[in-house]
Amino acid sequence: MRDASGYTGHADREFSPATPHELAALLAEAHDACTPVTIAGSATGVTGGCCPHGGWLIHTRQFNQLVVERGRALAGAAVTLRDLNEAAARTGQFYAPDPTEWTASVGGSIATNASGSRSFRYGATRRHILSLDAAFADGTLRRFRRGEAIDFNVPAIALPATTKNTAGYPLAPGMDWIDLIAGSEGTLAVVVEAELQLLPTPPVIAAAVLFFDDDAAALDAVDACRPEPSLRMLEYLDRNSLGLLGEAAGAALIVESTSEEWLHALDLAGLRDDSWVAQSPADRERFRAFRHSLPERVNEIVRRNGFQKLGSDFAVPLEQNRAMTAHYHATLTREFPGQYVLFGHIGDAHLHANILPETQEQDALGRELMLTLARHAVALGGTVSAEHGLGKRKANLLPIQYPAAVIDAMRAVKLRLDPHGILGRGTLFV
Ligand SMILES: Cc1cc2nc3c(=O)[nH]c(=O)nc-3n(C[C@H](O)[C@H](O)[C@H](O)COP(=O)(O)OP(=O)(O)OC[C@H]3O[C@@H](n4cnc5c(N)ncnc54)[C@H](O)[C@@H]3O)c2cc1C
Repeated sequence: MRDASGYTGHADREFSPATPHELAALLAEAHDACTPVTIAGSATGVTGGCCPHGGWLIHTRQFNQLVVERGRALAGAAVTLRDLNEAAARTGQFYAPDPTEWTASVGGSIATNASGSRSFRYGATRRHILSLDAAFADGTLRRFRRGEAIDFNVPAIALPATTKNTAGYPLAPGMDWIDLIAGSEGTLAVVVEAELQLLPTPPVIAAAVLFFDDDAAALDAVDACRPEPSLRMLEYLDRNSLGLLGEAAGAALIVESTSEEWLHALDLAGLRDDSWVAQSPADRERFRAFRHSLPERVNEIVRRNGFQKLGSDFAVPLEQNRAMTAHYHATLTREFPGQYVLFGHIGDAHLHANILPETQEQDALGRELMLTLARHAVALGGTVSAEHGLGKRKANLLPIQYPAAVIDAMRAVKLRLDPHGILGRGTLFV
């Protein structure tokens, strides 16, 4: 098993249960034998969470039932976000979380609390779950409705002041089951099916790729655009990212708005005349494909060079956006000139820095640098993982964000629900 980061794992046995009861029976057997169990969705994750180190690998692929109704969809864990969105679109609706990788599964995106390009407007996956069918480590099947509080004491922990965070469990007294299971990366329960909120498709979606001569102008534009209520996507690509995609500019912003008037009236200092404005839905999809091709290209280059993805997923409080962006550029230009890209969800002060190492020495240096950058993000009040989760590759970042007592509290919740520690072993906790 290999995920999109190039991380690999091996299972002793693999299963694809056809019903929740088959899944429950497998879990009960593994629980009794203390056999580790890893859950795999579409394997588009980038932190190694679906890659087992021995034990059993359970694929959710047979949980693919999908029913779309007004305001909601009932989706099995294996339903892809593409199938969900296409079915929703046929009814004039859409599913708001957009982790841009549309082959990702509903179960995997819930398990990582995925977010992506639209989260600064609509929030992450967690917010869009109305009810959840889950299987626990001992094979117990349960359905949770939104607002159903956890029936044991959960301590309060200090969470980062970011708009998104998926590092560890967001423990809070009185929290509900859905908020606990979403983002738990397959370490607490298996997502079997979810009832997801659908929103009406806006009558108009205007889109543009705005090119700027330099970063400063692009960052000014971010501050100018972010308060606009019609804005639903605000993505950033730096000079190196654009270079990798064959475009030359200092920086670019990709925007989607539900107001054509607003987009056409944009008057931003440093905005270049050769910016692209969508004339049709096909253009809009082209812009999204252009944006999505960047992480795909990065993952492909890194894997081709024989390495695993070397990328950050840190977010900082919005007021620290400029400081973090400047820090990324200064540090990476010094250490990896021309060998990195910086891009992503700037509406949430959440950029992905990706280093493209060519030698073992560079890879080792890059890994050290990522730890330093993680500490910097946390010092600014940020999170070590905004949307990808920590999986196995990044489990070492959790202690950068949280003191040992908080991690112990998370472990206590894990052991309460999975006393033999069989689910997602090696993920989240080193
Ligand atoms: C090119 C590219 C771009 C991406 N861009 C984004 C982005 O913008 N935003 C973003 O959030 N993510 C992004 N991702 C990451 C990835 O798409 C998400 O993490 C996605 O949610 C993973 O879904 P999956 O089905 O592939 O899960 P997998 O990779 O199969 O698994 C991910 C984790 O979830 C667990 N899991 C899977 N299914 C279940 C289940 N049913 N129950 C319990 N646990 C389960 C696994 O054990 C593992 O820990 C990107 C990935 C790629 C390749």
